[in-house]
Amino acid sequence: MPDLTTTLTDYLDFELAFIVAYKLDTYSEDVASQVREEVASRNLSPEKLDALVQEKLKTEINDHQQKICPRCSSQKIVTNKEEFHGNNKAFGLDSGKPLTFIEYKLCGVCGWNFLVDETREEKNERRTSVFLSIVLFILIVLLMTYVIEWATS
Ligand SMILES: [Zn+2]
Repeated sequence: MPDLTTTLTDYLDFELAFIVAYKLDTYSEDVASQVREEVASRNLSPEKLDALVQEKLKTEINDHQQKICPRCSSQKIVTNKEEFHGNNKAFGLDSGKPLTFIEYKLCGVCGWNFLVDETREEKNERRTSVFLSIVLFILIVLLMTYVIEWATS
């Protein structure tokens, strides 16, 4: 995040806490030290930072509009665009142009990826739907067995 330093003051205390907890390792030493300076100027001790993070992690956020980060509750959501190129050269399909773009949202603070990261609620929903489709499949198989037996008897 190259423009992080110019906007450090825009970050709320809890957002800085999440940056320290989740992203500091990914920054260059230059940026990381600027983050540490900002943290120090706000008198945020490691204990305070930790408390801020823990408090947010306890809060469950279920926002389906992707405007609030479900992990840190920040509203600094950024949109990323990635290109996908075809690599089926053997089939002559590689035109050199991107085949498609994928747009996805990321939390600008803690790096939560809306495309791959799942909230607890989403995980449960997914488990439920997998479970239901298994049950449905078994029912269909049973029904077909029954119908076949009925038809051949
Ligand atoms: Zn976040």
